[in-house]
Amino acid sequence: MADSIKYTEEERRRKRIRLYKKIIILFLLFLILLPTVFCVILFVRVGNLQKQLNTLMAIRLSQSEEQSVAPSEQAGLPDNIDYVYAQEPDATESETSEVSTSEPDTQETFGISDKDKDKVVSVQPSQGVYGAYSEDMIDKALEEGRKVVYLTFDDGPSHNTGRILDILDEYNVKATFFTIGNEGDEYVDDYTRIIEDGHTLGMHSYSHKYSTIYSSVEAFDEDYLKISAYLEEVTGVTPWLYRFPGGSSNLVSAIPMTNFIKYLNDKGITYYDWNVSAQDAEGKQLPVDTLLDNIFRDIDRKDICVVLMHDSDYLGTTVEMLPELLKRLTEMDAVILPITENTTLIQHISADSVQ
Ligand SMILES: [Zn+2]
Repeated sequence: MADSIKYTEEERRRKRIRLYKKIIILFLLFLILLPTVFCVILFVRVGNLQKQLNTLMAIRLSQSEEQSVAPSEQAGLPDNIDYVYAQEPDATESETSEVSTSEPDTQETFGISDKDKDKVVSVQPSQGVYGAYSEDMIDKALEEGRKVVYLTFDDGPSHNTGRILDILDEYNVKATFFTIGNEGDEYVDDYTRIIEDGHTLGMHSYSHKYSTIYSSVEAFDEDYLKISAYLEEVTGVTPWLYRFPGGSSNLVSAIPMTNFIKYLNDKGITYYDWNVSAQDAEGKQLPVDTLLDNIFRDIDRKDICVVLMHDSDYLGTTVEMLPELLKRLTEMDAVILPITENTTLIQHISADSVQ
């Protein structure tokens, strides 16, 4: 009897031990599997990130090599850009890191083929039919409470320029393009089409590299002469209009902006800033609705509106937004015009204040 009880207790003890063993083995397996699963997940994630990085590097490389310009206002922006600008904090253009480019060569011929030269037109955009909206007519429109709107696109030409021009054409609207020095046949066609379609073609520096163009008046002069000569060579029209990268009130310039304003004043070149901004240069693509909200929030507060937008490979939503913008402006009976020599100056720092 005693033996059988002892035997049963022994059995139970063995069962308990077997159970403990199982639990310990399962626990150990869990400990081994958990990091393995984590490793697999992390491995997959690193692989995906590497792919994205490669894509971004390829885009950045192709941009710096093909266009020889700094990546405009879309990459690597400081989060707090307001400190950079003295005025119009709600409507500022942002600046970015620099990409090294070859030294400017004012002697180069920009590689324009004879074929392209045949396309050169000799229309002064400022005197075209679309600039014929007289000051009286504009005054009358303002008296009637209508908005007078000048749409401007900076940083082009890009692979989006054609689409932008198509949309403007569809709505029979003329705008203003502040362009940089992009070489290559595809871009030559964009510069010439801007003028042929009746828009105003302005300068926005050749290199768009703040650290270079704003380092000294000499450097600014070199860049200015290059973009002026380039636009004249590809379009046959001498440009008369300028927009400072970052605006006339930017605080990234190494020397006071008044130096460069005086330079343009001496050359008889007019510059425009903006008082309405899509804020589409903040380092990431904004949704269409946000861009529209930004624009109309500013437009509500102004009668004469110079709207800052960007013509960039990276800003597809700006293009997508354009038809809705034009639709709404048409619905509110706004007068939409290209900037001409008679357009009311919108300048963060007045050219007249600099002698
Ligand atoms: Zn710009």
